[in-house]
Amino acid sequence: MRASTSTEFANVSDELKERRQWLLWKWETVGENKATKVPYQSNGRRASSTNPATWANFEDAGASFERGGFSGIGFAVTKDDPFTGIDLDDCVSLETGEIAPGAMELVRSFDSYAEKTPSSTGLRIWIQATKPTGECKKPGLEVYDRGRYFTVTGWHLAGTPETIEPRQKELEALIAEEFPKPEEPRRGERRPYDGTPGEKLDIEEFLASSGVLVLGETLDSTAEKVFKIVCPWVHEHTGGDRSGTRVGQYADGALFFRCEHSHCAGRGWAEFREEVDPRVPAMVKLCKARRVWGKPARRRSA
Ligand SMILES: [Zn+2]
Repeated sequence: MRASTSTEFANVSDELKERRQWLLWKWETVGENKATKVPYQSNGRRASSTNPATWANFEDAGASFERGGFSGIGFAVTKDDPFTGIDLDDCVSLETGEIAPGAMELVRSFDSYAEKTPSSTGLRIWIQATKPTGECKKPGLEVYDRGRYFTVTGWHLAGTPETIEPRQKELEALIAEEFPKPEEPRRGERRPYDGTPGEKLDIEEFLASSGVLVLGETLDSTAEKVFKIVCPWVHEHTGGDRSGTRVGQYADGALFFRCEHSHCAGRGWAEFREEVDPRVPAMVKLCKARRVWGKPARRRSA
């Protein structure tokens, strides 16, 4: 992956440069080979996205980066600054540089400074706004206005303003559309098994045949059988946390899947089965996984 140059850093919006909220970061591999952007101070110690004592001004962070040893610089957003960052992942084709239509539409609607992220496959839109409360994070789209640092590349997206514009109303519209308030989780609500009529699935057999990693059996006051499992979407959990996921079956055959992690909030038995059932063709799964912006990223064949 290519790194930014000092010329490119000159593109960074002045509104950000003026603040002493900068840090450095390095690509590091942690856990299951997942490349992570670890924040650092220029002295080589870790930086924290929530500890201002570990931040520097733009010039110092840039100078440390120039001296080498880091992958890039970043900016920590706080509740005391007016900034919000909107991350659009996996929306730029590496081969053609083409931007997915849904992502481009969003960039245009915000009409504020936007740049490519270090992977070159994502975009970040910077706006002035306060994010409504609650987590705004799902595959392909994340929004933060505090408690988080953003990488800054200076790879300004041509056609977007050089300044960070006030876009509160636009942000609220996006959140309402993309992160609607979840209905109160009704404990005990079960999504009935909706497979082939007449087929009664045996959960133990199903788990065994689908290769789901079962961590143990557990007790539930109403379900006949409940198993703690490794969530098939565990890679989306914060820190890859393997706890908090269970599946079960009632005496009448009804099945449920429940995962406490926010990414899995809308997922029930139907989604779980589709994800892990070997009878569901891999292409169907792939298309679903990539259906972030309505259309999968187009790739031109040579
Ligand atoms: Zn999960």
